[in-house]
Amino acid sequence: MSRIAFIGLGNMGSGMAANLVKAGHDVHAFDLSAEALAKAAEGGAQTAASAADAVSGADAVVTMLPAGKHVRAVYESEVFGAAKDGAVFMDCSTIDVDSARDVGAAAKAKGFKFLDAPVSGGVAAATGGTLTFMVGGEDADFALAEPILSAMGKAVIHAGGLGSGQAAKACNNMLLAINMIGTCEAFALAAKLGLDQQKFFDISSKASGQSWSMTSYCPVPGPVPASPANNDYQPGFAAALMLKDLGLAMEAADAASAATPLGALANDLYQSFVDQGDANTDFSGIYRLIEECDSNG
Ligand code: NAD
Repeated sequence: MSRIAFIGLGNMGSGMAANLVKAGHDVHAFDLSAEALAKAAEGGAQTAASAADAVSGADAVVTMLPAGKHVRAVYESEVFGAAKDGAVFMDCSTIDVDSARDVGAAAKAKGFKFLDAPVSGGVAAATGGTLTFMVGGEDADFALAEPILSAMGKAVIHAGGLGSGQAAKACNNMLLAINMIGTCEAFALAAKLGLDQQKFFDISSKASGQSWSMTSYCPVPGPVPASPANNDYQPGFAAALMLKDLGLAMEAADAASAATPLGALANDLYQSFVDQGDANTDFSGIYRLIEECDSNG
């Protein structure tokens, strides 16, 4: 059993903290929201009066915060000053690669261990303990973090050095967005050509057009009964979160002078989708935007 501080108990963090408690850890939780803190207490965590209070005496710190600016602020103003020598920090938030590297380097300079460990899988996976973690950091630090992350996930993969977890997350989600839009285009075109969408699914899911977006998360109702398309595109994975991840991918591509023309187009399309009022629609709901367009745009 380890004493673990958990900071950021929102949609994802509350379930993750509860799974650490279930695994037998002594979890000290903090969130700015009283409601989130109360939920963490229901999950068996001890509530702390501040992030620094949660961190004090902890062997490990897990953060699950909205964005890079929150992660920088929490580590710089609360965690570094309160953590015990040699503590291991795991930031599971989805943030920009530069912030992960900067915070990690600052932690290392102070004698702490830091891993960027963003997740794939939504709220259901956070609650069910079936997240996939993609982790950046040194080998020895990964070995310390792995058993803790395993209590919250089904797979914990060491991606490489500091920032590699965030790099993997940005690349994966950019690919997912491109793939989803491509799948939507194909289903919309099939319908406009008079082809039954179930028939198109039966063929393409066994042919070279097959993808996760088609066979696990089909963007039209029918072929995959559990997909959000069958539930009026309730999330699932909200379009606003996909747009956030695409923004991080575009920022990283820019910094690396990498050409990502389809990623940029996907970013523009999700921006239009969010701007038309669909921020809280599942990201596969972009099917509606594609379907409504004709060849004039
Ligand atoms: P959320 O907004 O529900 O939770 C974030 C929590 O952080 C909130 O409860 C907020 O009060 C708290 N917080 C903010 N600043 C704080 C501070 N200074 N000190 C303490 N607490 C603070 O967000 P979420 O959906 O749980 O997502 C968290 C992270 O996980 C994000 O980076 C998101 O991109 C990523 N993520 C989310 C999903 C998803 O499906 N929701 C999936 C994969 C990754």
